[in-house]
Amino acid sequence: MTTAPRIRILATGGTIAGSGGSATTRAYRPGQIGVAELLAAADGLGLEADFDGREIAGIGSQDIGWPQWDALHREILSAMDDDGVDGVIVTHGTDTAEETAFLLDLTLPAGKPVVLVGAMRPADAVGSDGMRNLANAVRVAGDAQAAGRGVLVVMSDQVFAAIDVRKAATGGAEAFRGFPRGPIANVTPMSLDWFGPPDKAGRGARFAWPDMLPKVAILHTYAGMEADTVGCALGSGVEGLVLAGLGSGNAPGPVIDALAAAGVPVVRSSRVDQGSVDRNLEVDDDANRFVAARGLGPAKARILLQLCLASGMRDPAAMQAEFDRR
Ligand code: GLU
Repeated sequence: MTTAPRIRILATGGTIAGSGGSATTRAYRPGQIGVAELLAAADGLGLEADFDGREIAGIGSQDIGWPQWDALHREILSAMDDDGVDGVIVTHGTDTAEETAFLLDLTLPAGKPVVLVGAMRPADAVGSDGMRNLANAVRVAGDAQAAGRGVLVVMSDQVFAAIDVRKAATGGAEAFRGFPRGPIANVTPMSLDWFGPPDKAGRGARFAWPDMLPKVAILHTYAGMEADTVGCALGSGVEGLVLAGLGSGNAPGPVIDALAAAGVPVVRSSRVDQGSVDRNLEVDDDANRFVAARGLGPAKARILLQLCLASGMRDPAAMQAEFDRR
């Protein structure tokens, strides 16, 4: 006899808990629906699963940061230790889902399924995607094959690994993409098809959970960018910089020179969604002591740099090894 999977829902807010007060209004507020209502909605899906839940926050994910991340990490670790929990779902705004997912992915063991899920349309909007996505997330979090894959993001009938996923459109239910790897499974409330076996089974956390995340800024490049932007960022007390570079991580010569003289670790990423930033193409990373972000976009490169710095790492070669890992 199989028992129904026991799923813990950790609610943080976002559009999946958003309300506009009418089915067709444009403006709405994220994070209006509490965990009790979400649990009732999950129960109403008719899926073979049992739920309990905790409310971490009720906010738009543009406001998420250290206090919520710290609470989420603690709650997920406790759920992993709890024999009464088979999988965890985090309901989350879509704006920063990739950052939360990647931070948790880097700091949790690849144990029980951990699934972030959100929605692009508020709960009371016509054609809302929230309950569909939640039903899909339940299907994934309750599947034994979801374990050992790290943190997953479920949106629009697809499952993405945290390291690949990005919000790639501001609207539309199919706003998420995976780069460089696409989705790793297709999911519906009735089906789940993995495209390969778990790739992280038995893997421990890559980084210890830090006491705090150091301040790291992202510098967005543009044609004609001035070198004094680097000084502005340094003046705000950053301990590291990520360049959202042009093309394969480029910037005007004076900006590159200013970054080389910045005195803090510099990671070159790209403002372009797809593709890798590799070492020593047009920029001399060896001479400038830069790190190439490889497949990570700026937002996720920032998270990884923060964890490197928090772990005491300062050597660019050691950091590069972290950015080279998948
Ligand atoms: N900006 C809000 C957030 O990220 C709403 C967007 C959404 O969830 O899709 O939470």
